[in-house]
Amino acid sequence: MRIPILTYHDLDEASSPVSVSPAIFERHLIRLRTAGYRVVTLSEALARLGLDSPGKPLLAVMTFDDGYAAVHEVALPLLAAQGWRATVFAVTEYVGRPNRWPGQSPAVSEARLMDWSELRELSALGWEIGAHTRSHPDLRLLNDGDLSEETLGAKAVLEDRLGQPVRTFAYPYGSVDRRVRSQVRKIFHAACGTEMGIADEQSDRSVLERVDMWYFSHPGACDLLGTPLAGPYIRLCHLARRTGAWLRSPQRQDRLVRRILLNDRSEPTRAPTEQLGHRGGRAQTEKEVPPKR
Ligand SMILES: [Zn+2]
Repeated sequence: MRIPILTYHDLDEASSPVSVSPAIFERHLIRLRTAGYRVVTLSEALARLGLDSPGKPLLAVMTFDDGYAAVHEVALPLLAAQGWRATVFAVTEYVGRPNRWPGQSPAVSEARLMDWSELRELSALGWEIGAHTRSHPDLRLLNDGDLSEETLGAKAVLEDRLGQPVRTFAYPYGSVDRRVRSQVRKIFHAACGTEMGIADEQSDRSVLERVDMWYFSHPGACDLLGTPLAGPYIRLCHLARRTGAWLRSPQRQDRLVRRILLNDRSEPTRAPTEQLGHRGGRAQTEKEVPPKR
């Protein structure tokens, strides 16, 4: 059994390394539903991962790192309409504040993160709230005391404020080494990294692979979701991220999909904002964005 764990951050039109537009996000949901997927929380998916349950419904997990306010505004109503629940990884010291922690990329626009009442509302609706540290540091650089504060301390704050057990974690920037992983494994049932791949029974639950949905932010790429070409495309994205050389814009995603996977030499498709008639957003330009976090 394989479970795609999808990674999102903000849902906006900023075209930044953490942005997926609301129109494209809605398209992802349609593609998943059409392909027979049901979106469940990370803990629910992991509880079923070892069980033999052939056939549909297929399970997928949506994770939202950092806890942007757009998750409450955009994702919540769309997922609720399907009866689906997602997972948010919150940064406790930045709840209700702008995403301006030290180490934040200048390419990421300032945006508000959900406040405690919004997180409590999601939790009450069955969403899973996991920990994403207290202050979003690179955990590898911390001494043991600070590492404990950012992991065990973040779990304690979330459990106190939400009144729910916190079982899952996501590493800021995907930064993890043996010491950090060992600490996280003691505290959480499961933790997500940023390695591109699809989780299965063999996956290390202390560093689960995920699919960064930024790589599906062009219509050409997002229409691969739920098709046999999604796997090869995810492997190409994994290589692209390793080399750091490709796919730094949605337009390059489109070219890769059409020319390599679909062997199509026709003119590029239009940008998502034009194609979907999304109001209020500017058309995407071929803006280079830095490699992923
Ligand atoms: Zn983060």
